[in-house]
Amino acid sequence: ALVVRHRMRSSGRWARVAAVIKELEDQCATPIAKLRHVADAMAVEMHAGLASDGGSKLKMLISYVDNLPTGDETGLYYALDLGGTNFRVLRVQLGGKEGRVVKQEFEEVSIPPHLMVGGSDELFDFIASALAKFVASEGEEFRLPVGRRRELGFTFSFPVRQTSVSSGTLVKWTKGFSIDATVGEDVVAELTRAMERQGLDMRVSALINDTIGTLAGGRYHNNDVVAAVILGTGTNAAYVEHANAIPKWNGLLPKSGEMVINMEWGNFGSSHLPLTDYDRALDSASLNPGEQIYEKLISGMYLGEILRRVLLRLAKETALFGDTVPPKLEVPFILRTPVMSAMHHDKSPDLKVVGSKLNEILGIPNTCLRTRKVIIQICDIIAKRGARLGAAGIVGILKKIGRDGIGKNGNEISRTVIAMDGGTYEHYTTFSETLQCTLKEILGEESSASIVVKMANDGSGIGAALLAASHSQYREAN
Ligand code: BGC
Ligand code: MG
Repeated sequence: ALVVRHRMRSSGRWARVAAVIKELEDQCATPIAKLRHVADAMAVEMHAGLASDGGSKLKMLISYVDNLPTGDETGLYYALDLGGTNFRVLRVQLGGKEGRVVKQEFEEVSIPPHLMVGGSDELFDFIASALAKFVASEGEEFRLPVGRRRELGFTFSFPVRQTSVSSGTLVKWTKGFSIDATVGEDVVAELTRAMERQGLDMRVSALINDTIGTLAGGRYHNNDVVAAVILGTGTNAAYVEHANAIPKWNGLLPKSGEMVINMEWGNFGSSHLPLTDYDRALDSASLNPGEQIYEKLISGMYLGEILRRVLLRLAKETALFGDTVPPKLEVPFILRTPVMSAMHHDKSPDLKVVGSKLNEILGIPNTCLRTRKVIIQICDIIAKRGARLGAAGIVGILKKIGRDGIGKNGNEISRTVIAMDGGTYEHYTTFSETLQCTLKEILGEESSASIVVKMANDGSGIGAALLAASHSQYREAN
C-alpha cells in the first residue's frame, strides 16, 4: 500500500510539473500573428522616437555618424570596447582600399564585478590604466607620424545622448552596470580625465555604441549592410536612416542625406510582448526595474536567469529536485546563458550534459532522465520566445526602411544585409537558427530571400577604429 501511495504521489508530481510547463508554454507563445503585431509596434515606435525626444520608449538616439566607412581609411588607430563583462583595447593599422586592415592587435580584460556597481572614477581609472599598459607595450611596427597624437574610437555600449560624434552623456546604465555618478555625465570627459591621471596622451575622436561600430565594420566589408543588431549580454540595433525622416533632428542636413540611428531597442515595450510572472519578478528584482523589458526577454544576461526562476518554482511547488529546494537555485544569475545553451544542445541519450551541469552549477546530483528532459523543454520555450521576438524586431526595422517586401530596386534585386554580433547569437545555435527561420516565417520565402543576417565578428572593434579614422583631427592630412 505504501509503494502504491508513493507512486500515486509521484505521478501527481509529474502532472503538476507538466501543468507548470504547459502554463509557461502558453504564456510564452509567439504565434506568427503576434510576431507581426510586435514588428508593427516596433516600426510605429521607431517613428515616434524619431519624431521627438521622449516620444517613445525607443530613444532612437542620433549618433552623429552620417558617413559610414568607405574603405579609404588609413593610419594607426586605437579602439576601446566597453559594454559587457569584458572590455577590450585594440590597435588597428588601416591600409586603405588595397590593404584594408593591415594589422590588428587586441587585449581583453575582464571587469571586476565590484567596479560595475562602484564609483565612476574607479571604473574609468581601471579602463585607462589597461589602455596605458597596452600602449606602453606596443612594438616598433606600430608608429605614428612624428608629432601626431594617438586617436581612439570609444565603443561604449550603453544609451548615450550624443552631443557630437565624440561626446555624449550617459542616459542610464544597463546590463548589470549601475554607477549613479556617471549618469548624466559626458563619458568621453570621464575617460579623458582618467587617461590624464594615467599620463596617457590620447584623443577620443569617436564615441559610438557597439551597434554603430558593428554597422560601420559591417559596411566596410559589405556595401549591402544597412543595419546592425547585437544579441549578446544585452541587445540593441542601429540602422541607416534618411536624415530628413528625423523630425527631432534640428541640425544641418548632412551632405550624405543619411544619419545612423542607435535605436536602443532593448527598451522596447509593447502590450504584444508575451510576459510571464517570471519575467515580472525578474524585472522587479533587477538593477533597472521597468526598463529594458525587450532586452530582458531576449538577451544573454537574462535567458539563464529566467530558466533559474522557472526551475526554482518547480523545486518549490512540485519537488522536482526532491524534498528540499536546492539552495544554489535561490541565487540570482547563478545559471548563466552559456550553461543553459550547453544543456539545451545536449544530444546524448541520457542527457549527461544536463545532469552534470545541474550538479556542477546548482549542486543538484543524480537527476533522472525525466527531470533532465523537463529542463530541455524549458530551455526550448525560453530560447524560442527570445529568438522569435528578436526576429520580429528585425522585421520592424525592415518595415521602417521599406525593405520587408521583395527586394526590388528598379529591376535589380537588392540585397539587405544585417550585420550581427554578440555571443548569444554566435554561440547559442538553437537561438540563432530559430531567429533565422522565424524571419523567413514572418516575411515569407520570397521576400526573405534577399535578406541576410550575417555574423560580423568583432565589427565593433574595427568599426570604432574606422570611425576614429574618419573623424580624425588629421583627416585632411590623410
Ligand atoms: C545597451 C545598448 C547596447 C546593447 C548591446 C544594451 O543593454 O543599452 O546600448 O548596444 O546592450 O550591447
Ligand atoms: Mg560587445
